[in-house]
Amino acid sequence: MSILKVARMGHPVLRQIAEPVDPADIKSGEMQDLIEDMLETMYEYNGVGLAAPQVHVSLQLALVGGDEDDDGNPIVRPVFNPVITPTTDTLFGMYEGCLSVPGLRGWVERPVSIHVAYLDADGERVERDLEGFPAVVFQHECDHLEGKLFLDRMKDMRRLAFESEAERFLPIDTMIDGRDV
Ligand code: ZN
Repeated sequence: MSILKVARMGHPVLRQIAEPVDPADIKSGEMQDLIEDMLETMYEYNGVGLAAPQVHVSLQLALVGGDEDDDGNPIVRPVFNPVITPTTDTLFGMYEGCLSVPGLRGWVERPVSIHVAYLDADGERVERDLEGFPAVVFQHECDHLEGKLFLDRMKDMRRLAFESEAERFLPIDTMIDGRDV
């Protein structure tokens, strides 16, 4: 396994539309190695998700964390060729950060619940409903596959801050619907 170099804002790979992955390639050694390397990279930099374009690979693959199994253990899902359908008009806001935009936090609002369909690491089709923080992470990672960064989703650039100032001055734990992150 290896730790991969993370592309930062300004690198053109972050603005490309990522190529869909051929389902027949998912179980290849090369693709499974990429998943392992991305996992190691995500943990190294303490991320809650990581998309392949962030490690200079323009494919529709993302690791999506922010969710827990039934026993409360954190889970990270490898996701290929995802499709998101919002299931509500209700928005959920939080200060997002990104390994490709280090040091910054910005207020972004996204649909609070979504239906997602994707292929998992075995190439099996999965559908599930996500709500709250896991839904935010899923949408943030899938934006990377479309060449978008969280900054593009911000409606008010005055709500952009450096991480340390955000921690000091901003209500980082406040979400639009009043629940805690
Ligand atoms: Zn990101």
